[in-house]
Amino acid sequence: MKKYQLMAPGPTPVPSEVLLAMAQPIIHHRTPQYEALFIEVRAALKKLFQTSAEVVPLACSGTGAMEAAVVNTLSAGDRVVVVRAGKFGDRWLELAKAYGLEVIDLSAPFGQTVDAGRLAEALKSHPEAKAVLVQHSETSTGVLHDVRAYAAATRQHDAILVVDAVSSLGIADLPMDAWGIDLVISGSQKGLMLPPGLGFCALNEKAWRKTKTSTLPKFYFSLADELKYVAKNEVRFTPAVSIMVGLREALRLIEAEGLADVFKRHDRLARATRAGAEALGLELFARATPSPAVTAVVSPKGVDSEKIVAAYSQSHNITIAGGQGEMKGKLFRLGHMGYAAEFDVINALAALEQVLADIGQPVDFGSSVRAAQKIFTEKS
Ligand SMILES: *Cc1c(COP(=O)(O)O)cnc(C)c1O
Repeated sequence: MKKYQLMAPGPTPVPSEVLLAMAQPIIHHRTPQYEALFIEVRAALKKLFQTSAEVVPLACSGTGAMEAAVVNTLSAGDRVVVVRAGKFGDRWLELAKAYGLEVIDLSAPFGQTVDAGRLAEALKSHPEAKAVLVQHSETSTGVLHDVRAYAAATRQHDAILVVDAVSSLGIADLPMDAWGIDLVISGSQKGLMLPPGLGFCALNEKAWRKTKTSTLPKFYFSLADELKYVAKNEVRFTPAVSIMVGLREALRLIEAEGLADVFKRHDRLARATRAGAEALGLELFARATPSPAVTAVVSPKGVDSEKIVAAYSQSHNITIAGGQGEMKGKLFRLGHMGYAAEFDVINALAALEQVLADIGQPVDFGSSVRAAQKIFTEKS
């Protein structure tokens, strides 16, 4: 028997408290039980998003929430700035193009970030821009973009800042109101420790104003219509009831740990993972601030990273992820977000040492584990 371990950068493991809650008989969504659940969840989501705005849950994956953000605030022909340095940045570009938006493409090589100064320049020369579309954590490269600086650069313009926080919500600090972010989207299967299937959109006043002039087609994802129901603590369509039940449990776990400590935990896990990889002589893919959600490691010279991913799976029954698109074969990614603890990182690194040895790479056994343990002995 090989115990299964999910260490991919999403979906992520689900705690047993959450699994057990979701295993209970399904409840109907127009009942007092669901109303009570929705009241608790709505209040806790506001705390998690660090906003006084209503957080609208949708039954969709994270990309559905990205699409909802676009179709509710923009009109065909609108100019938008896409900040892009990875596969998820590419997704904003594809989405904008699919809806006939005019894109100002601010890209940087994968593994790097886009300097906020470039965004400030772009908005100065294109004051007609309606939105800036960015990721907070770029999951494909393991980079954390400087959203706080992007918000400062966007604030004095008409454009709204739309942040994809699918792999940073409940992982890295992203105070929506304090930083002045206009629209935050996220999903259930990363930091929230839930199965995939829920998307979230949180809009501030500036973003809600944009929904009034937006003419892109929308029906299922009409956020203004959703809000009418959410504000009455009701749901417009059948929600993903089981995942909402799990969400209440997950939000309780986050509340019990404390959001600040949740961020600290992720920071420690990420630092330990990076230290472990570097102790093995491996190079990190991130050339900018690394994400606390995922560590992207460059494959050793001459080694296809898919071989490492396959060895994790076949020899140890551990799922990690490889590189996407042009990064395929070049890097592998270790997720450490959500329901992740110190000994998950130790396992991932110990397994990495064995995987490297299995494929004929020189390994100083214990060196990565030792480097991680040093981080874990630090007082936080
Ligand atoms: C996982 C992820 C998404 C959402 O992808 P789905 O497969 O649609 O859930 C979006 N953005 C980022 C940065 C992600 O990590």
